[in-house]
Amino acid sequence: MTFHVSAFGALRCLPLFTFMRFLALLLTLPLMAAEPSPMVIAHRGASGYLPEHTLEAKAMAYAMGAPYLEQDVVLTKDDVPVVLHDIHVDTISDVASRFPGRARDDGRYYALDFTLAELKQLRVTERFNAKTGKPVFPNRFPLGRSHFQIPTLEEELQMIQGLNQSTGRKVGIYPEIKQPAWHRLEGHDISRIVLPILQKYGYNSRDDLCYVQCFEYAEVKRIRQELGWQGRLIMLMGGGGKGSDGTDFDYLRSPQGLAELKQVADGIGPAISSIVDNNRQVTDLVAKAHAAGLKVHPYTLRVDELPKFATSADDLMELLFNQAKVDGLFTDFPDVVLRWLERD
Ligand code: CA
Repeated sequence: MTFHVSAFGALRCLPLFTFMRFLALLLTLPLMAAEPSPMVIAHRGASGYLPEHTLEAKAMAYAMGAPYLEQDVVLTKDDVPVVLHDIHVDTISDVASRFPGRARDDGRYYALDFTLAELKQLRVTERFNAKTGKPVFPNRFPLGRSHFQIPTLEEELQMIQGLNQSTGRKVGIYPEIKQPAWHRLEGHDISRIVLPILQKYGYNSRDDLCYVQCFEYAEVKRIRQELGWQGRLIMLMGGGGKGSDGTDFDYLRSPQGLAELKQVADGIGPAISSIVDNNRQVTDLVAKAHAAGLKVHPYTLRVDELPKFATSADDLMELLFNQAKVDGLFTDFPDVVLRWLERD
């Protein structure tokens, strides 16, 4: 009899069931460190339930179990990145009544014309049409109720990282650099301000739970090549042919464009309409992007604004996840998508 049994010998002594469980654990170890797939990205937070981009909407998305929370980022007059979907603040706040006379000639109120101290005085509300005053989504959170503010990017990162500590979860961020060409035309270099803040909070490499996203191809290249961003990067794509800065989306959707894009980006964020067309046909975009080695995270699943071809949110998710094989999805309703993905 010998007491010098090898590890393999010891395993052979285990009951078969225990051995199989051990084997299963070994096989799942690499997966445990990987991304959830498909990924759910809480679009502007749980914005189907609370005003978009408020800390409350982000906390709700976090509590619902979303693995990634989205931040749209614009600058204030004093160069503080704040979390807002638009460069304007007149469709989500009381700016017109609180700061009358501060609109530009086009009648719009720009975040960039207000200091952070001024923006903090605004009451944020559910998105509305500035001309009619009517809510964009009538069944969502009522207009003008409660007390919501515009958060800074740092306030939001501190909240998410604080929740990561207190819950033990690892929820990621998905910040979008909004209209960098416009910001620079106005004399503000938004990427050069935002990227160091991400790095300060520990988002540096592709191992960190962060995807930076942008609609402007020149800026995506600049973020990677000139500003030295080492983390993950997503090229957003509009439904149309050209972006506001001249980005040629038709070219970027071609095999040649996707191969070129892969030199700087990790994935694409296209509109749902370029994944499934009006006749419910799955396009070849996901297959082409996957062939180029790019992930695909389309936007946006809204249960209260489904594409015409979809009979229900479940129907749309079946088309996107099971037929088109997307790698993730932006949604205003993270609970709905998570529930669908976790169903038996
Ligand atoms: Ca966005």
